[in-house]
Amino acid sequence: MPGNDVIIIGAGPAGIATAIQLKRSGLNPIVFEKKNIGGLLNNANLVENYPGFPGGITGPDLVGLFRKQLESFEIDIIYEQVQSLDYNNELFTAITESKIIESKAVIIASGTQSRLSNEIKISGKIRNRIYYEVADLFELKEKNIAIIGAGDAAFDYALNLARNNNITILNRAGNIKCLPLLFDRAKSNNSIKYLSQIQVSEIFETAANQLLLKCRNKSEDIDIISDYVILAFGREQLLDFMTENLLKEKDELQRKELLHFVGDVNGRLYRQTAIAVGEGVLAAMKIAGKNRTK
Ligand SMILES: Cc1cc2nc3c(=O)[nH]c(=O)nc-3n(C[C@H](O)[C@H](O)[C@H](O)COP(=O)(O)OP(=O)(O)OC[C@H]3O[C@@H](n4cnc5c(N)ncnc54)[C@H](O)[C@@H]3O)c2cc1C
Repeated sequence: MPGNDVIIIGAGPAGIATAIQLKRSGLNPIVFEKKNIGGLLNNANLVENYPGFPGGITGPDLVGLFRKQLESFEIDIIYEQVQSLDYNNELFTAITESKIIESKAVIIASGTQSRLSNEIKISGKIRNRIYYEVADLFELKEKNIAIIGAGDAAFDYALNLARNNNITILNRAGNIKCLPLLFDRAKSNNSIKYLSQIQVSEIFETAANQLLLKCRNKSEDIDIISDYVILAFGREQLLDFMTENLLKEKDELQRKELLHFVGDVNGRLYRQTAIAVGEGVLAAMKIAGKNRTK
């Protein structure tokens, strides 16, 4: 395989691990990232299950170490979104705003996107005050923030932002879906209020420029006022750049080990950094092994 023959889409933990392993094997990956390296990990409050960090490490600090490792391997990231990925005549073609790049193998490490709700009416005017992640909100201080959801992400977001803000977690069900230790930490944090069996139907802006959440708790109507709202309902695979043609060829290309899906993009229920990293390393080793046997 000549120099640039592996394209990696996404520089979250999965894409980064793949790139490092490919580089160690003497290959030159081209890595595209549409936002920031580290992906979803930039939101994580405390990563306690990634080996090597007794006592845990924050998501942004772990991403900082990943960045250093990319630099030490001289792996450049192209900060552009892959708008389309196709396959024809034994070559993949990735198109971004300014580039068209071909390769013989592709690693898709594009992760997930937030699942949107069609149960909550949100007026277009306030869409810029509704968030799906917290990485862009770390500077907020003394704000009221409502988080809708009841999984690990909702509780992790709450613990992260509760350092400087007042948080209300709204769970439409009666049971929680997060790790018990996250729930216990949230329950013992004075800046976090947890409300269960509460359904949000509409969010709009008040005359005082705040957000009003119209809610129903069992048989009672409740209004909650907030400065920001975070929706944490779960996530789904992000594959919007694959052409129809590629979708048809996908299974065969995977069988030939020319196309690999690594990390959260695989759409499993269980999504963690160590899993994403392991899948990235495995895919890189398969590509490098194939290259050696040619
Ligand atoms: C709040 C929170 C806390 C967490 N805590 C932990 C924890 O404690 N321990 C743990 O192990 N895991 C944790 N996780 C999960 C962990 O962050 C993910 O499992 C991991 O980031 C998945 O890595 P990935 O590379 O597969 O996907 P992602 O991290 O989602 O990265 C995908 C990347 O691809 C980019 N991308 C997507 N489409 C394109 C495109 N078309 N062109 C270019 N780039 C593209 C995205 O911008 C993104 O940077 C947490 C997640 C959240 C949200």
